[in-house]
Amino acid sequence: MNIMEITDLYVGFPTKDGLVKAVNTIDLIIEEGENIGILGESGSGKSVFADSILRLIKDQTVTKGTVVYRGQNLMEMDKKELRGLRGKELGMIMQNPSSSLNPSLTIGNQIGEAAAVHERINKKERNKKTLEILEKVRIKNAKQRMKEYAHQFSGGMKERAVIAMGIAQSPRFLIADEPTKGLDTLVKYKVVQLLKEVSENKTMLLITHDLDVAEQICDRIGILYLGEFVEISAVDALYRTQLHPYTEGFFKAMPKNGMLPIEGLPGSLIDLPEGCRFHPRCPKCMERCKKEHPPLYTKQDGRKVRCFLYADSE
Ligand code: SF4
Ligand code: MG
Repeated sequence: MNIMEITDLYVGFPTKDGLVKAVNTIDLIIEEGENIGILGESGSGKSVFADSILRLIKDQTVTKGTVVYRGQNLMEMDKKELRGLRGKELGMIMQNPSSSLNPSLTIGNQIGEAAAVHERINKKERNKKTLEILEKVRIKNAKQRMKEYAHQFSGGMKERAVIAMGIAQSPRFLIADEPTKGLDTLVKYKVVQLLKEVSENKTMLLITHDLDVAEQICDRIGILYLGEFVEISAVDALYRTQLHPYTEGFFKAMPKNGMLPIEGLPGSLIDLPEGCRFHPRCPKCMERCKKEHPPLYTKQDGRKVRCFLYADSE
């Protein structure tokens, strides 16, 4: 069953240098229960994409297209309707724990608040619930820890606290934005285990630039380049072979694959290159790539790839 259907999503916002076309144009169907990863370099539009689903983006932003969640178009909802869905249906694990945790409230208070948004429960019940959630994200000495403030938490514990807030109301659909960014290897491994656990009976959209993290958590992955998908594939197939020249480059740039950087600069979301957006950096560029914008071809095995090299494979 499909839980979310994103069609023709476009997000642009004005800056002093021009219009940033951050999401441009995205189609994606997400099945209930699946964990889907959105991967790309910084500046690929992946965080804007996540924010636009929950409409966390600024007012002057231009959005077009539809995001249908269980039959309702989120793009047409008013703020109150949307608030009703957040937390219970759609949970967000925000990027950057240091700025998403409030330094002047105890961790327990913040999680309690997130847990009780739509419910009227007394203090005792709220504390009980907070404790349960903190234990679920494996915070040791939770009873003591809930009285502490963010600055008393280590990086890994802050990340756990942010995850706790995201799952506080046990949402059906979780969006996690770079939950392992800046964590050292051991802490990262533990956070990945935790994310696997909390997403077990949920749908999760994971935004990351980390191929290892995505491989461990996701069933399917979409690779974003300059605001559009260049490849969408099941995890196993993708890690075996990469079809799009950008995906190939992205994998080769991983530390364990020799850290070979992709040549050229990532390109700008303000002045999108003509033709294939990757053509100025593509080692396989052909004449037509400079003028024509390739569609997302669906191969017989279901993999999708936006590149003229696969024009005959449909
Ligand atoms: Fe490279 Fe052309 Fe494919 Fe674009 S369409 S990725 S430029 S080969
Ligand atoms: Mg899942």
